[in-house]
Amino acid sequence: MAASPLDELVRLLARLPGIGERTATRLAFHVLGGEPDYARALGASLASIHDRVRRCVSCGNYGADERCAICTDPRRDPTIVCAVARVPDLAAIERSGSFRGRYFVLHGLLAPLDGVGPEQLPMEALLRRVSEDGVREVIVATPLSVEGEATALYLAEVLRPLGLKVSRIASGVPHGGELEFTDQVTLGRAFQGRRDL
Ligand SMILES: [Zn+2]
Repeated sequence: MAASPLDELVRLLARLPGIGERTATRLAFHVLGGEPDYARALGASLASIHDRVRRCVSCGNYGADERCAICTDPRRDPTIVCAVARVPDLAAIERSGSFRGRYFVLHGLLAPLDGVGPEQLPMEALLRRVSEDGVREVIVATPLSVEGEATALYLAEVLRPLGLKVSRIASGVPHGGELEFTDQVTLGRAFQGRRDL
């Protein structure tokens, strides 16, 4: 007997973060009870998301074009770069409105204990960016966790000999906590109080 289409939808929805089986069931019934056009649009959007969203060639942020909206904004200072682990961290910093430079998304962190070494970080792209844009300062906004600190120290080690100022966002961001869940005022203070690495 084929699995019930409703059960299948519930199972798929329940795999999303923060969605338990109860919420998944509620969402599935909501979609089924609503306009078929909405269900089709939702399905089409999900099905094509990987094809339509690209990684910015310059910073690794997500966008619809080769270069993202931040990298093509002439009002943003290209000589100050904020390095983050993941795109949701970039989004959190943008929401705080405390940074007017540009970004570089590492899409990962050093994790020596898990065998993730420097060769897995996009260092070549970062160094190219530094020379092409005449970057003066890199603010490392990785999480204040063991991996985040190891990554910050490694970036400082590589970038400082090139004559760059390398700074680290200040504490105040909860220790080990993700930037994504840090409130805007705290994030703003963490930027203002950044210290040299
Ligand atoms: Zn970009």
